[in-house]
Amino acid sequence: MGRLLLPTLPSPVEELADERLIVKGVGLLLKRDDLIHPDIPGNKWHKLRGNLDEARRLGHDTLLTFGGAYSNHIRAVVVVAAGRLFGVRTVGVIRGEEHLPLNPTLRFAVDAGMRLTYLDRTSYRTKTSPAIVDRLRAEFGAFYLLPEGGSNALGVRGCAELPAEIDRPFDVICCSCGTGGTLAGIAAGLGSGQRALGVPVLRGARFLADEVDALQRAAFGANSGNWTMAYDFHFGGYARSTPALARFIADFHDRHGLALEPVYEAKLLYALLALAEADAFPTGTTVVAVLNAMADGPGPDARREDRPPG
Ligand SMILES: *Cc1c(COP(=O)(O)O)cnc(C)c1O
Repeated sequence: MGRLLLPTLPSPVEELADERLIVKGVGLLLKRDDLIHPDIPGNKWHKLRGNLDEARRLGHDTLLTFGGAYSNHIRAVVVVAAGRLFGVRTVGVIRGEEHLPLNPTLRFAVDAGMRLTYLDRTSYRTKTSPAIVDRLRAEFGAFYLLPEGGSNALGVRGCAELPAEIDRPFDVICCSCGTGGTLAGIAAGLGSGQRALGVPVLRGARFLADEVDALQRAAFGANSGNWTMAYDFHFGGYARSTPALARFIADFHDRHGLALEPVYEAKLLYALLALAEADAFPTGTTVVAVLNAMADGPGPDARREDRPPG
């Protein structure tokens, strides 16, 4: 865990032949962003890149960010900061109380030099309020503030570069959504006639459409108007599962030899197949599914209290 090497870019695009799509005349391409680094989900890399360059450009010697105790984002920040910003201090503001011994994510963060501090769950909801940020500045000095999940204008712009890496024609591109930053970027990077579909992994995620809208306005000045969301594939909420989802993952592995990451990407693929079954894609549609992680790669512990922001 925590290999401090640089990502391999761009990730490959692979065709996946699935009978259930073939009978509907739907083609599926997988954008294998899970393959760019063993410890960094692809979208986390795209969101971090521009932020780290900006922190360095502004001359910051400290980068502060937020995350749950099992956060993919915290791990990604540690790995990327070690590779790209050698000499820059990192501070991780962790949701909830300290638990000792540290779990593997936080142990790894501390071993790589990250300083940790904790915010109780109530304060965490307002973690970027002036009162809390002032308190953090008093404790750690000046810092570059990176939002949870890396989802700010710079992060979203990084994700907008992904569609140009796909060298085959396609009609629809799909991704799972936690904060919605990845969808906001990918949709903005599409050509005319293409559209994006987001699959939120949280229950009650209708607020996410406003978040994606706000992120697109912040990053590009306008909503690209070419994306929608499928809200019905959360399977009970973040990091929750059901027997149907577990069967889907096992069956998908039998068919294709791919171990789907259960928190985000299994819900994405389940949604795609269910929508195709319901004739949501016209015959002849080519769909790209963006995979940011696979089960044997990085992935949060499936603990229900480790929620992403929102
Ligand atoms: C963080 C993450 C997402 C969600 O991305 P958002 O930009 O927050 O919507 C999806 N898949 C994986 C594997 C992730 O780590």
